[in-house]
Amino acid sequence: MEFRYIIAGILVVVLITVIFLGFVTPLFPIAQNIINLSKNNVGFKSPSGLYGETPPSTVPQDVQVRSGGPVLTRPKIDVNYEHFGELNYADRSLSDVNKVVLHHTGDDNAAQTINTLKAKGLSVHYVVDRDGTIYYLVDETKTAFHCGCCRPSDTSCLNKYSNPPVCLEEHPVATNLDSIGIEIVNTGEYSDEYTEEQYSAINALVKDVAERWMIPLDDNHIVGHYEVTQGKWDPSPNFDWSRIGLADHVMLEDLGKTPPSWAGYP
Ligand SMILES: [Zn+2]
Repeated sequence: MEFRYIIAGILVVVLITVIFLGFVTPLFPIAQNIINLSKNNVGFKSPSGLYGETPPSTVPQDVQVRSGGPVLTRPKIDVNYEHFGELNYADRSLSDVNKVVLHHTGDDNAAQTINTLKAKGLSVHYVVDRDGTIYYLVDETKTAFHCGCCRPSDTSCLNKYSNPPVCLEEHPVATNLDSIGIEIVNTGEYSDEYTEEQYSAINALVKDVAERWMIPLDDNHIVGHYEVTQGKWDPSPNFDWSRIGLADHVMLEDLGKTPPSWAGYP
């Protein structure tokens, strides 16, 4: 009797082993694939292999489609997503986006810039800090409020503000709707040089944006706020356009403008 139970026990163990190997082993390649996939996703290496850092869940979609073809809307370079989505934005048509507008912030650190933008209800897509850190704040697919102005003929717009920002021309070279805005942390003073880290970061960022959005890297598509709005003089004359490959870019003085006297330019 005892022996039969032992044999039965052995048969049960063998049976369980066979079932286990028969059903579970074929799953191993799948499990292996899942492990491989999650390994790839750790670096957010997309199928096209374009990403670096692991961004939080609020980052924009990888690719969006506009007329003219798909456009990558997530930077390929390293950016800081810490304050992403915290600033005001509005919808816009992706097919309109074909400019980059550069600014200086008027202060000396990105944290203060971000606070000021929040307090004023303004926004910008990127802020480049003194140390070259690039803060990505507003999804490139959305309108940010960084260079808007009223056309000289638009009385309803002009009447809306006590001190309206008036466009330099009836058809400004860039608008909030068609541009991606980059604020560079700089006080604007003559004594305040843009840092090497900033030039390096701006260079990389402008190239990255231009490449992904198919924006020509030329003087008509990469512009300064001073070219858009009357009374604006940013980025300050200290900004060296040749450092982003635009050595012949129109300067503040070419437009008959001067920095405010407090900025200390000779
Ligand atoms: Zn500006």
